[in-house]
Amino acid sequence: MDKVVELLLSSTYAIAFTGAGISTASGIPDFRGKEGLWKKYSPEIASIDYFRRDPKGFWEFYSTRMRGLFNAKPNEAHYALARLEKMGLIKYVITQNIDGLHQKAGSTNVIELHGTMQKSYCSSCFRQYDSREVLKMIDRGNLPPKCSCGGVIRPDVVLFGEAVKDIDFAVRIAYESDLVLVVGSSLTVYPANLIPQIVKEERGGSLIIINADETPLDGEADVIIREPIEIALPRIVEKIEEKIKQ
Ligand SMILES: [Zn+2]
Repeated sequence: MDKVVELLLSSTYAIAFTGAGISTASGIPDFRGKEGLWKKYSPEIASIDYFRRDPKGFWEFYSTRMRGLFNAKPNEAHYALARLEKMGLIKYVITQNIDGLHQKAGSTNVIELHGTMQKSYCSSCFRQYDSREVLKMIDRGNLPPKCSCGGVIRPDVVLFGEAVKDIDFAVRIAYESDLVLVVGSSLTVYPANLIPQIVKEERGGSLIIINADETPLDGEADVIIREPIEIALPRIVEKIEEKIKQ
Protein backbone atom coordinates (compact mmCIF):
# COMPACT_ATOMS: atom_id res chain seq x y z
CA MET A 1 0.00 0.00 0.00
CA ASP A 2 2.80 2.43 0.94
CA LYS A 3 4.62 1.48 -2.24
CA VAL A 4 1.54 2.41 -4.30
CA VAL A 5 1.34 5.80 -2.56
CA GLU A 6 5.02 6.40 -3.21
CA LEU A 7 4.76 5.40 -6.89
CA LEU A 8 1.67 7.53 -7.50
CA LEU A 9 3.21 10.60 -5.86
CA SER A 10 6.43 10.27 -7.85
CA SER A 11 4.71 9.64 -11.20
CA THR A 12 4.23 12.45 -13.68
CA TYR A 13 1.56 10.94 -15.92
CA ALA A 14 -0.43 8.16 -14.27
CA ILE A 15 -3.47 6.53 -15.80
CA ALA A 16 -6.02 4.05 -14.51
CA PHE A 17 -7.27 1.09 -16.49
CA THR A 18 -10.54 -0.31 -15.19
CA GLY A 19 -12.67 -3.36 -15.88
CA ALA A 20 -15.83 -5.01 -14.62
CA GLY A 21 -14.30 -5.69 -11.18
CA ILE A 22 -14.59 -2.04 -10.14
CA SER A 23 -18.36 -2.10 -10.65
CA THR A 24 -19.24 -5.39 -8.94
CA ALA A 25 -19.51 -3.54 -5.60
CA SER A 26 -22.15 -1.39 -7.34
CA GLY A 27 -24.19 -4.52 -7.94
CA ILE A 28 -23.20 -4.94 -11.58
CA PRO A 29 -22.18 -8.54 -12.19
CA ASP A 30 -18.89 -9.30 -13.92
CA PHE A 31 -19.82 -10.99 -17.20
CA ARG A 32 -17.13 -13.57 -16.97
CA GLY A 33 -17.19 -14.20 -13.23
CA LYS A 34 -18.86 -17.05 -11.38
CA GLU A 35 -22.16 -15.15 -11.10
CA GLY A 36 -21.58 -13.55 -14.48
CA LEU A 37 -24.17 -12.62 -17.03
CA TRP A 38 -22.75 -15.07 -19.52
CA LYS A 39 -23.56 -17.98 -17.24
CA LYS A 40 -27.23 -17.06 -17.72
CA TYR A 41 -27.19 -15.83 -21.32
CA SER A 42 -25.16 -16.77 -24.32
CA PRO A 43 -22.80 -13.89 -25.24
CA GLU A 44 -24.26 -14.35 -28.71
CA ILE A 45 -27.26 -12.24 -27.68
CA ALA A 46 -25.01 -9.18 -27.30
CA SER A 47 -23.39 -9.63 -30.70
CA ILE A 48 -23.80 -7.47 -33.79
CA ASP A 49 -24.97 -10.54 -35.74
CA TYR A 50 -27.75 -11.21 -33.26
CA PHE A 51 -28.80 -7.55 -33.30
CA ARG A 52 -29.11 -7.65 -37.09
CA ARG A 53 -30.92 -11.00 -37.11
CA ASP A 54 -33.35 -10.40 -34.27
CA PRO A 55 -33.41 -6.74 -33.10
CA LYS A 56 -36.56 -7.39 -31.06
CA GLY A 57 -34.96 -10.26 -29.11
CA PHE A 58 -31.79 -8.21 -28.75
CA TRP A 59 -33.68 -5.27 -27.20
CA GLU A 60 -35.75 -7.52 -24.93
CA PHE A 61 -32.46 -8.62 -23.38
CA TYR A 62 -30.61 -5.33 -23.68
CA SER A 63 -33.32 -3.06 -22.28
CA THR A 64 -33.37 -5.14 -19.09
CA ARG A 65 -29.61 -4.87 -18.83
CA MET A 66 -29.73 -1.11 -19.50
CA ARG A 67 -32.31 -0.52 -16.78
CA GLY A 68 -30.11 -2.39 -14.29
CA LEU A 69 -27.09 -0.27 -15.23
CA PHE A 70 -29.07 2.98 -15.02
CA ASN A 71 -30.08 2.15 -11.46
CA ALA A 72 -26.52 1.40 -10.35
CA LYS A 73 -24.60 3.90 -8.23
CA PRO A 74 -20.85 4.49 -8.11
CA ASN A 75 -19.03 2.86 -5.18
CA GLU A 76 -16.07 4.03 -3.08
CA ALA A 77 -13.59 2.84 -5.71
CA HIS A 78 -15.12 5.04 -8.44
CA TYR A 79 -15.08 8.02 -6.06
CA ALA A 80 -11.46 7.32 -5.11
CA LEU A 81 -10.37 7.45 -8.77
CA ALA A 82 -12.31 10.69 -9.31
CA ARG A 83 -10.54 12.10 -6.24
CA LEU A 84 -7.13 11.09 -7.64
CA GLU A 85 -7.99 12.90 -10.88
CA LYS A 86 -8.95 16.07 -8.98
CA MET A 87 -5.65 15.88 -7.08
CA GLY A 88 -3.88 15.73 -10.44
CA LEU A 89 -2.50 12.27 -9.76
CA ILE A 90 -4.45 10.45 -12.49
CA LYS A 91 -4.68 11.94 -15.98
CA TYR A 92 -7.09 9.52 -17.59
CA VAL A 93 -9.32 6.61 -16.76
CA ILE A 94 -9.42 4.10 -19.60
CA THR A 95 -12.31 1.74 -19.01
CA GLN A 96 -13.81 -1.40 -20.47
CA ASN A 97 -17.08 -0.62 -18.68
CA ILE A 98 -20.15 0.89 -20.33
CA ASP A 99 -21.99 1.74 -17.08
CA GLY A 100 -20.94 5.42 -16.88
CA LEU A 101 -20.17 5.09 -13.16
CA HIS A 102 -16.78 6.84 -13.44
CA GLN A 103 -18.50 9.97 -14.76
CA LYS A 104 -21.27 9.69 -12.16
CA ALA A 105 -18.54 9.64 -9.49
CA GLY A 106 -16.94 12.78 -10.93
CA SER A 107 -14.16 11.55 -13.24
CA THR A 108 -13.98 13.77 -16.33
CA ASN A 109 -11.19 12.31 -18.48
CA VAL A 110 -12.70 8.92 -19.25
CA ILE A 111 -12.00 6.84 -22.36
CA GLU A 112 -14.71 4.23 -22.85
CA LEU A 113 -13.25 1.48 -25.01
CA HIS A 114 -16.55 -0.38 -25.17
CA GLY A 115 -18.74 2.69 -25.64
CA THR A 116 -21.49 3.83 -23.32
CA MET A 117 -24.98 2.63 -22.68
CA GLN A 118 -26.06 6.22 -21.91
CA LYS A 119 -26.38 6.87 -25.64
CA SER A 120 -27.98 5.08 -28.56
CA TYR A 121 -28.11 5.81 -32.26
CA CYS A 122 -29.97 4.88 -35.42
CA SER A 123 -28.27 2.06 -37.30
CA SER A 124 -29.36 3.64 -40.63
CA CYS A 125 -28.98 7.45 -40.37
CA PHE A 126 -26.82 7.53 -37.20
CA ARG A 127 -29.09 10.06 -35.47
CA GLN A 128 -28.26 10.07 -31.74
CA TYR A 129 -30.69 9.24 -28.97
CA ASP A 130 -30.52 9.39 -25.20
CA SER A 131 -30.87 5.75 -24.09
CA ARG A 132 -33.47 6.80 -21.50
CA GLU A 133 -35.65 8.05 -24.36
CA VAL A 134 -35.14 4.74 -26.13
CA LEU A 135 -36.26 2.86 -23.01
CA LYS A 136 -39.41 5.02 -22.96
CA MET A 137 -40.09 4.07 -26.59
CA ILE A 138 -39.83 0.43 -25.57
CA ASP A 139 -42.19 1.07 -22.63
CA ARG A 140 -44.71 2.41 -25.14
CA GLY A 141 -44.48 -0.90 -27.00
CA ASN A 142 -42.05 0.09 -29.75
CA LEU A 143 -39.97 -3.05 -29.95
CA PRO A 144 -37.49 -2.87 -31.49
CA PRO A 145 -37.25 0.91 -31.05
CA LYS A 146 -37.10 2.69 -34.39
CA CYS A 147 -35.80 6.05 -35.61
CA SER A 148 -38.06 8.52 -37.44
CA CYS A 149 -36.28 7.34 -40.63
CA GLY A 150 -37.43 3.77 -40.00
CA GLY A 151 -34.00 2.45 -39.05
CA VAL A 152 -33.56 0.32 -35.93
CA ILE A 153 -31.98 2.12 -32.98
CA ARG A 154 -29.03 0.46 -31.25
CA PRO A 155 -27.06 1.20 -28.08
CA ASP A 156 -23.77 3.08 -28.54
CA VAL A 157 -21.81 0.18 -27.09
CA VAL A 158 -19.34 -2.19 -28.65
CA LEU A 159 -21.15 -5.43 -29.33
CA PHE A 160 -19.41 -8.77 -29.72
CA GLY A 161 -18.03 -8.88 -33.23
CA GLU A 162 -17.29 -5.14 -33.30
CA ALA A 163 -14.03 -3.23 -32.86
CA VAL A 164 -13.32 -1.31 -29.66
CA LYS A 165 -13.59 2.49 -29.73
CA ASP A 166 -10.92 5.14 -29.25
CA ILE A 167 -8.13 2.59 -29.10
CA ASP A 168 -5.74 4.85 -31.02
CA PHE A 169 -6.33 7.61 -28.48
CA ALA A 170 -5.94 5.18 -25.57
CA VAL A 171 -2.68 3.86 -27.02
CA ARG A 172 -1.37 7.42 -27.45
CA ILE A 173 -2.23 8.15 -23.81
CA ALA A 174 -0.48 4.94 -22.74
CA TYR A 175 2.70 6.04 -24.53
CA GLU A 176 2.60 9.28 -22.47
CA SER A 177 2.24 7.41 -19.19
CA ASP A 178 4.78 6.41 -16.59
CA LEU A 179 2.35 4.55 -14.35
CA VAL A 180 -0.73 2.44 -14.93
CA LEU A 181 -3.08 1.47 -12.15
CA VAL A 182 -5.06 -1.58 -13.26
CA VAL A 183 -8.32 -1.87 -11.33
CA GLY A 184 -10.69 -4.82 -11.59
CA SER A 185 -9.62 -6.12 -14.96
CA SER A 186 -8.51 -9.69 -15.54
CA LEU A 187 -6.45 -8.36 -18.48
CA THR A 188 -7.42 -11.30 -20.62
CA VAL A 189 -9.40 -9.51 -23.33
CA TYR A 190 -7.64 -7.63 -26.09
CA PRO A 191 -6.87 -4.74 -25.91
CA ALA A 192 -7.10 -4.79 -22.14
CA ASN A 193 -3.64 -6.32 -21.96
CA LEU A 194 -2.23 -3.89 -24.54
CA ILE A 195 -2.55 -0.65 -22.53
CA PRO A 196 -0.71 -1.84 -19.38
CA GLN A 197 1.86 -3.58 -21.56
CA ILE A 198 2.70 -0.36 -23.39
CA VAL A 199 3.20 1.52 -20.12
CA LYS A 200 5.28 -1.24 -18.56
CA GLU A 201 7.22 -2.72 -21.46
CA GLU A 202 7.52 0.12 -23.96
CA ARG A 203 7.68 3.08 -21.56
CA GLY A 204 9.38 1.37 -18.62
CA GLY A 205 6.69 2.73 -16.30
CA SER A 206 5.18 1.24 -13.17
CA LEU A 207 2.41 -1.34 -13.16
CA ILE A 208 0.06 -1.61 -10.18
CA ILE A 209 -2.64 -4.26 -10.26
CA ILE A 210 -5.65 -4.26 -7.93
CA ASN A 211 -7.69 -7.31 -8.84
CA ALA A 212 -9.28 -10.20 -6.99
CA ASP A 213 -7.88 -12.84 -9.34
CA GLU A 214 -4.57 -13.47 -11.02
CA THR A 215 -3.86 -11.75 -14.33
CA PRO A 216 -1.44 -12.66 -17.12
CA LEU A 217 0.60 -9.54 -16.28
CA ASP A 218 1.06 -10.28 -12.56
CA GLY A 219 4.65 -11.35 -13.21
CA GLU A 220 5.53 -7.88 -14.45
CA ALA A 221 3.67 -5.90 -11.80
CA ASP A 222 5.49 -3.63 -9.35
CA VAL A 223 2.68 -4.05 -6.83
CA ILE A 224 -0.27 -6.48 -6.71
CA ILE A 225 -3.18 -5.88 -4.33
CA ARG A 226 -5.76 -8.61 -3.82
CA GLU A 227 -7.95 -6.76 -1.32
CA PRO A 228 -11.47 -5.75 -2.38
CA ILE A 229 -11.14 -2.76 -4.72
CA GLU A 230 -13.73 -0.63 -2.90
CA ILE A 231 -11.64 -0.91 0.27
CA ALA A 232 -8.13 -0.73 -1.20
CA LEU A 233 -8.55 2.34 -3.41
CA PRO A 234 -10.09 4.65 -0.77
CA ARG A 235 -7.31 3.63 1.64
CA ILE A 236 -4.69 4.59 -0.94
CA VAL A 237 -6.35 7.99 -1.38
CA GLU A 238 -6.52 8.46 2.39
CA LYS A 239 -2.81 7.71 2.76
CA ILE A 240 -1.98 10.14 -0.05
CA GLU A 241 -4.03 12.88 1.57
CA GLU A 242 -2.29 12.31 4.91
CA LYS A 243 1.09 12.47 3.22
CA ILE A 244 0.29 15.67 1.34
CA LYS A 245 -0.86 17.37 4.57
CA GLN A 246 2.44 16.62 6.29
ZN1 LIG B 1 -32.55 7.06 -38.57
